[in-house]
Amino acid sequence: MEENNQPVVSLISKPENMLKTVYTACRTCYSADSPINIYESTDDKEKMLKLIEKVISSGHYSTIEHIQVSFAISNVSRACTHQLVRHRHMSFSQKSQRYVKEKGQFDFIIPPTILKNEELKNKFVAFMGKISEQYQEFIDAGIPAEDARAILPNATASSMVASLNLREMIHLANLRLCTRAQYEIRLLVKKMCDELIKEEPWLKPYLVPKCERLGFCDEDKSCGRMPTKKQ
Ligand SMILES: Cc1cc2nc3c(=O)[nH]c(=O)nc-3n(C[C@H](O)[C@H](O)[C@H](O)COP(=O)(O)OP(=O)(O)OC[C@H]3O[C@@H](n4cnc5c(N)ncnc54)[C@H](O)[C@@H]3O)c2cc1C
Repeated sequence: MEENNQPVVSLISKPENMLKTVYTACRTCYSADSPINIYESTDDKEKMLKLIEKVISSGHYSTIEHIQVSFAISNVSRACTHQLVRHRHMSFSQKSQRYVKEKGQFDFIIPPTILKNEELKNKFVAFMGKISEQYQEFIDAGIPAEDARAILPNATASSMVASLNLREMIHLANLRLCTRAQYEIRLLVKKMCDELIKEEPWLKPYLVPKCERLGFCDEDKSCGRMPTKKQ
């Protein structure tokens, strides 16, 4: 897949004391000590990681809801953003097709299966050109962008700021890194995970497809990476 046909993702906001905050939330549940004492007296990373793993594995997920992260995302198709916005515990601010008119050829994402076939790719690009011309004719005739956009395709490139807490981030990774998810959202979520892991490497074991946490595949059509539930 061509580099300029891929999601562009940057982590733009996260708490500085992520590990310590999650640890404090976990420890507070089992300690007579006050949360602030726990927070201020702990620096043993291994001890923190051990407890966090125990608590998350037990399903005590409120402890990871205290952490909020935000990503700047661009160069993704509207098809992909439509899949992302199905995640109900995320917050979004997306480039509006009502307020922002497309000027000239709109940007679009070409699916890799089409991209690798030169003839089909050329047809795809030519078709985007035709849509663009028609869109422009509507705009020039005074049709509002919010109505002219009706002819823009799923492939139209979009951008957004997306924020979520750590519980939802893990859930998102578990679902969307699975090979059953479509290539583009898989790539987008992989980049989101990579950005966060770069800053917080301890999160690596959690930001994985669900089969890695479960130890088996619960999908109907398995990719074969893990044994199925039945097996
Ligand atoms: C491979 C794949 C294929 C898909 N195919 C389709 C499809 O064909 N058609 C389609 O419409 N969608 C499809 N989806 C989207 C899917 O149905 C979910 O809408 C999307 O994955 C969001 O997942 P979620 O609801 O678990 O997560 P979120 O919305 O992120 O919520 C996280 C969790 O919070 C809890 N929660 C959130 N809201 C509620 C609620 N109202 N009631 C109870 N619990 C709640 C649930 O435990 C949920 O798992 C697909 C998703 C994947 C990954």
